Amino acid sequence: MKSIDQHSFKGEKAIIRVDFNVPLDHQKNVTDNSRIEAAKSTILKIINDGGSCILMSHLGRPKGEDQDLSLKHLVKEIEKTLELEITFVPQVIGEKTLKAIKGLQKKEIILLENLRFHSEETSGDENFAKRLASYADCYVNDAFGTAHRSHASTAVIAKHFPNKKFAGHLLLKEVNSIQKIMDSGEKPVLGILGGAKVSSKITIIDNILDKVDNLIIGGGMAFTFIKALGGNIGKSICENDKTDLALSILEKAKQKKVSIYLPVDVVCGDDFSNEANTIEKEINNIPNGWEGMDVGPKSRKLFDKVINQSKTILWNGPVGVFELEKFSKGTIAIGKSIARSTRNGAFSLVGGGDSVSAVKKFNFEDKVSYVSTGGGAMLESLEGKILPGIKALMD
Ligand code: AMP
Repeated sequence: MKSIDQHSFKGEKAIIRVDFNVPLDHQKNVTDNSRIEAAKSTILKIINDGGSCILMSHLGRPKGEDQDLSLKHLVKEIEKTLELEITFVPQVIGEKTLKAIKGLQKKEIILLENLRFHSEETSGDENFAKRLASYADCYVNDAFGTAHRSHASTAVIAKHFPNKKFAGHLLLKEVNSIQKIMDSGEKPVLGILGGAKVSSKITIIDNILDKVDNLIIGGGMAFTFIKALGGNIGKSICENDKTDLALSILEKAKQKKVSIYLPVDVVCGDDFSNEANTIEKEINNIPNGWEGMDVGPKSRKLFDKVINQSKTILWNGPVGVFELEKFSKGTIAIGKSIARSTRNGAFSLVGGGDSVSAVKKFNFEDKVSYVSTGGGAMLESLEGKILPGIKALMD
């Protein structure tokens, strides 16, 4: 995969797939510009080289044209973030687009309309990809968040630029961070998996057992393991049909010499709310009517010790119901421990869904080495899949 840093874009028009799928409020203001910020360095590199940029992205999941999901709502925020003017073209395909592209001067930026106004984008239509490709001299993919999709703009288009397709800075950062966990991380490598269900993480567990030395399993999914081992889990969430699977994971870990750490104690609630009464119990001895909702103090200490010894750390999934303050201590403790290890030189990657929200909520974002921007793409990478958007840049 070639990086944009291996090329000068001087005098060239680059079509760049960015991920500007940002949240909007009712007035159509962007409420979180992280994804725009994340694409900034790639756009500026091309502009500073003396090239021009044709930005393309999706926003939401429109079924056909839908002005509520027009990229026109993003223009002000993009200009503010880039500190540059951009021109919005209210079309992806058509006369207006062709005219704008023809008149595009060096160091100028245009933004095309929402790619998903055309069903050809998600179906990966060859002709649609070809028309997009005809706009530019080279292709840059910086949309890690959609790299797991085989869409026209994320994968199919690349074949039209056999020698001029490049990975943007964000995409490279994401890929390199995952590689550090999967291939080149300094040992001991630790995986921390949490979240609600074992079933949604099983392929990840299966894949990372080959990569990690230690694995902490917390959150709701821990109870399926505890039940499988014969513990009383009260009314904690449990996937009863996955207990055999849980045992086979433990067995596999043993064979691969991976140490698995389950919580030893747990904070239980009598209700799934902040008003719940709470008790702390051994995890395999939860009374009837009580639900394990966070890891307890002994577990936090145990996990802290393991995290402290680790040189490479992957964190996916909260270890408790962190959305409720009463049950957020475990997840905060994991964040703190990872932050300390990172300060001491460990590499830490937080990725995939709710652990990213937790890290943001509790302000650990700047205290870990890298927070992935790609939910699904990150999870599929952890499952060991080669993402179509990445493969297309390599072929
Ligand atoms: P996931 O999307 O699978 O990573 O799951 C994230 C969700 O798991 C969060 O909304 C947490 O509230 C939830 N969760 C974590 N621990 C528990 C638990 N002990 N009981 C129920 N839900 C939990």
